[in-house]
Order: sequence, then structure tokens, then C-alpha cells
Amino acid sequence: MLADRLGRPVRDLRISVTDRCNFRCVYCMPREVYGRDYAFLPRSQLLTFEEIERVARAFVGLGVEKLRITGGEPLVRRDLERLVAKLAAIGSLDLTLTTNGALLAGKAQALADAGLTRVTVSLDSLDDATFRAMNDVDFPVEQVLGAIDAAAAVGLAPVKVNAVVKRGVNDEGIVELARYFHGSGHVVRFIEYMDVGHTNGWRLDDVVPAAEIVRLIDEELPLEPVEPAYRGEVARRYRYVDGGGEIGVIASVTQPFCGDCTRARLSADGKLYTCLFAVRGHDLRALLRGGASDEQLTDTLSAVWRVRDDRYSEQRSSETAGLAKVEMSYIGG
Ligand code: SF4
Repeated sequence: MLADRLGRPVRDLRISVTDRCNFRCVYCMPREVYGRDYAFLPRSQLLTFEEIERVARAFVGLGVEKLRITGGEPLVRRDLERLVAKLAAIGSLDLTLTTNGALLAGKAQALADAGLTRVTVSLDSLDDATFRAMNDVDFPVEQVLGAIDAAAAVGLAPVKVNAVVKRGVNDEGIVELARYFHGSGHVVRFIEYMDVGHTNGWRLDDVVPAAEIVRLIDEELPLEPVEPAYRGEVARRYRYVDGGGEIGVIASVTQPFCGDCTRARLSADGKLYTCLFAVRGHDLRALLRGGASDEQLTDTLSAVWRVRDDRYSEQRSSETAGLAKVEMSYIGG
């Protein structure tokens, strides 16, 4: 079995299909940095769907069981359902997509028909004013809620709803979010605000610890812990005692889970990253466009994974927070 230096297999491949987004979220695409003059990747530099499929196939051959399509915002990439169909044809995999929901309602049926199995929607607040301020393009929360319903209606359910919690910005809406999705069958996952990239000005004081999030919800809607479904599950799960479903918390700052991290990440321009906080990626596009055989591709992926020893979240400190890292809008969350 392929394993990295810390004995972790590769199970999960996150595929970014674009570095563009139709939102300017304050966390990952602040307008001051990603304004009108920002040079996004030109189309010629993006991996084609055929190139992405080749990499995904090679990774599946090495043990990957889960493919997640991300961005930027993946649904701004034209004809994304064509890629979904190609990835679905690789085999019986967990094939998911993370989206801000803005374009999801119109795409849900095509994605489901193409073989997508599930969808994760980012939604940091139910308060319309807070949500519009956070996405910074004045996008209404109602439309994201409608998109979640549309996804569920075509079978992309249960929907996972990811809420990044930042102290003083949206932490007052934690319980409201939990209450809204309680009993819906969908699962809200509250994520500690992380020092991803170096444009979000992260400070430890901004983090609302997962334990506090659980306590706040538990006071109103009593919770009990659920055993992880598999090794390496990122979210710690809790179920409502009254049978109203479950929530998850992703405590990457206060309870890092690097020891079980089985995720590889492919950027839209074909760089392979072995950690969300990596500084450098391995250039697969050059290999693909240089005529490498499938065997050479597999050998390269194995070689990169074998020497992996990333465990950034376990080593995080006030010093590491300021280091140059890959931006989340480029590599996906
Ligand atoms: S910090 Fe890197 S190694 Fe640790 S869990 Fe996150 S992606 Fe995995």
C-alpha cells in the first residue's frame, strides 16, 4: 500500500478546476487583493478535463476513494458536468463538489445526471446582511438556501453545509444555523477559522474553538458525540438527542488531525499539493503535456506521496501563521 513518511495512505483527492470565483469572500478572496486587476490563470494554463481525468485515474489506482471538485468556485468553470461524467466513469467513488451555491440551483440536475453523488455548500451565516457583507458581492442568502433545496430535490442529499466561524463576524449566528437545519436531513459543519494562505490576516483571537461551538448549540439543542464513520474523518460528529439529525465541527486549529490526513490536492493549473498549507506544489501539467505515459504519471504521484511529511496544523504557531502559503481560492478548502 502506498503510504507517506508518517504511514498515511492517499484516500482523498481534491481537484480545483478554477482559481476564479463569483464571490469576493472576506476570508479567501478579499477584494483588496482579488480586484479588477488581479491576474487569474489564463485558460491555457488550466488542466483540461481530460488531463484532470488522467490524474484522477492514476490516483484511484493508488488508493484514492473520494474525489472532491473545488475551486475557486467550481461552477464558474463551463460545462463542469462533462468533467463530473468523466470522473464518475472511473468507478464507484464518492464524487462530491464544494460550491458557494450561487449557480447551483441551475446546475444541480445536470450534475446529478452526470454522476455527482453529493454536494457541500458553503454558507457562513443565515443573516442576510452578514452574508452579503461576507461574500462582498451582495449575494442574498435566500438564493443559497434555495440552491440547497434544489440540490436535495435532485438527490444530491444529504447536503453538507460548511460554515466557517470567525469571532465577531458570524459567531452570533451559530445556533441559528444549527436550528435552521435541525430536522432537515442536511448536516451543518462548523469550521474553525484557519490561517489559510496569507491574504486573510488570520489571528488566533479570531478562532471560535469547536468546543465552544458545540457547547453553544448543546445548550439549546442537546447533542451527543457520534463515533467517526472512518479513519481520517475530518469533522467530529454530534447527533441531536431528539433525533433531529447531526452536526459536525472541524477543529483544525484547536484539535488538529494531521495524523490521519489522507488528502492530496490538485490545483487548477496542475500542481500537486500534499497539504492545504503547503508552499510549493509539484508540477504535473508539465509532465502531462510533455507526453508522460500513465505509468510515469503513477510513478511520479507515488514518489511525491512517499516523501510527504506535512503536518502543518500540528505545528501551527503565531510564527507559522505569517508564512507564505498557497491561497485557498487557488487550491480549494
Ligand atoms: S495541515 Fe496539512 S497535513 Fe495537517 S490536516 Fe491539514 S492538510 Fe492535512
